[in-house]
Amino acid sequence: MGEKKRILSGMQPTGRLHLGNYAGALANWIKLQDEYESYHCVVDWHSLTITYNETERIAQDTIDMVTDWLAAGLDPAKATIFVQSLVREHAELHLLLSMLISLGRLERNPAFKERVKDLNLRGEVSYGHLGYPVLQAADILIYRAHAVPVGEDQVPHIELTRELARKFNSTYGETFPEPETLLTPYARVPGPDGKKMSKSLGNHILMSDPPERVEEIVMKAITDPEKIYKGDPGRPEICNVYAWHYTFNSDQEQLIADECRQGSRGCVVCKKEAAGAISEYFAGFRKERSRLESDRGYVLKVISEGTERAGGVAGATMERVRKAMRLFSLEE
Ligand code: SF4
Repeated sequence: MGEKKRILSGMQPTGRLHLGNYAGALANWIKLQDEYESYHCVVDWHSLTITYNETERIAQDTIDMVTDWLAAGLDPAKATIFVQSLVREHAELHLLLSMLISLGRLERNPAFKERVKDLNLRGEVSYGHLGYPVLQAADILIYRAHAVPVGEDQVPHIELTRELARKFNSTYGETFPEPETLLTPYARVPGPDGKKMSKSLGNHILMSDPPERVEEIVMKAITDPEKIYKGDPGRPEICNVYAWHYTFNSDQEQLIADECRQGSRGCVVCKKEAAGAISEYFAGFRKERSRLESDRGYVLKVISEGTERAGGVAGATMERVRKAMRLFSLEE
């Protein structure tokens, strides 16, 4: 592991993952684990920025999510899998980094502004919520990560992490590498309603959903509204069902697009095939997941070992940080 470049990426504990989570992040992590020394973190403190008073599901959601990671192929022999709140050095570095950034800079962060608008939070933004990208910077810098695999929407946060690394280095001496952004290949995985798949919108298909449930959701999907009869030519580029074929039935997607455009394909058959392709794509995953569900001890062991490994790295970084900042030490 030592010679490889290091990456860090996390997910908030949302329980079982849906197809959007898989295509937008997890599939990429699994690909990258052979090439990079990978650290993957359940960022449970981040989940408190909005839902600080709904903590009863965090523990089970953490187990459910890590079980999905493992069943999908994230390999604890290659990737360090851990929980943020168990490595308390993240909080220490967060505090120290928070001295190096102005309130104005945090308030100008486009992702923050968007979230405040979407959630109608004006006037009710917590100190922790505003500081979310500083905690994220601490999560990354504490592992002295070289790169961070993220989606396009997270790029401004990584820029802020780079700024904090530069500010720390120029103030106290070279300590942190400036992490690069490793852009996750874009995958459009809409819900059946055409909106971005999300649990909060209730338009999700879980990776672990049984075939009957997948079919039930897929059959309700909005397709090209101008394609009424089977013989009408369709526009796969605006069809949600085609988007699923594109990602989970890639061998057939070109043929499906051609048949749709020519009007030789009907939407009912196309939906049934999409449901079948999705279920088939995750068949091995579902099998492995049900095996892991009956072995909770193994999942806990993976988290425990990963946390220990992550804690070792984080502890060493904090020693460097305290020394660079000339903080008080009892050692002579
Ligand atoms: S035939 Fe398939 S790709 Fe074309 S509009 Fe209907 S569901 Fe979509």
